[in-house]
Amino acid sequence: MSLLTQLVTAVADGSIEVIDLTAPLSETTPILQLPPPFGNTVTFSLREISRYDDRGPAWYWNDIVTGEHTGTHFDAPVHWITGRDGEDVSQVAPRRLVGPAVVLDVAAHAAADPDFLLEIEHVREWTKAHGPLPEGGWLLYRTGWDSRSGDQAEFLNADETGPHSPGISPECAHWLAEETPLIGLGVETVGTDAGAAHSFDPPFPCHSFFLGAGKYGLTQLRNLDRLPATGAVLVASPLPIVGGSGSPARVLALVEH
Ligand code: MN
Repeated sequence: MSLLTQLVTAVADGSIEVIDLTAPLSETTPILQLPPPFGNTVTFSLREISRYDDRGPAWYWNDIVTGEHTGTHFDAPVHWITGRDGEDVSQVAPRRLVGPAVVLDVAAHAAADPDFLLEIEHVREWTKAHGPLPEGGWLLYRTGWDSRSGDQAEFLNADETGPHSPGISPECAHWLAEETPLIGLGVETVGTDAGAAHSFDPPFPCHSFFLGAGKYGLTQLRNLDRLPATGAVLVASPLPIVGGSGSPARVLALVEH
């Protein structure tokens, strides 16, 4: 049997499960909110063109209104100033959209401290238990934050000092981006950086280092608790928006049982 025949057979009989890591896209999908004077993205919405009516008697369709960075989405290198000479989202090679994924779970830490930051030492502990980070693969950072994704306020978790959500320290982000064979970082939060990362040095280190290294980001993932620590295959499908800095994406994981 060819490899692809084996794959589709395994998907059909359930020995390979396809798990959706994508949040549904609707008007209630949480979006990032930057303080003034910065620009902000719009809430996702549908604009009805026709629905079996005078405007189109046999068909229903909508225009969509969305930001590139709305809901579960893909960050391309050109999104950040450090990656400004890098790829836009339409230029990402298809073979880089399919790759191995590992899951590092700090949900217990993040439950106790919403500002929890991943350090190099945590990753070293993980690799001691599970082996090296995968070549050309994704680090999926599980924080349990997806349980808040039904509510914008709970998801952003902001108070008078700004948003509070878990992330990665500048030292660890630099090390992951520069010293490991990862292709990207996937998170459950509204962006790849911690809520408080505006105050870090450099600000927004995951954006700065990963995108500056020509690597990628995936945000607002869910169902990471259904993935094994190692062995899953991730498929990311951002739209090839010409010149785009990112795109809403369907993100799937293949898991072997
Ligand atoms: Mn983004």
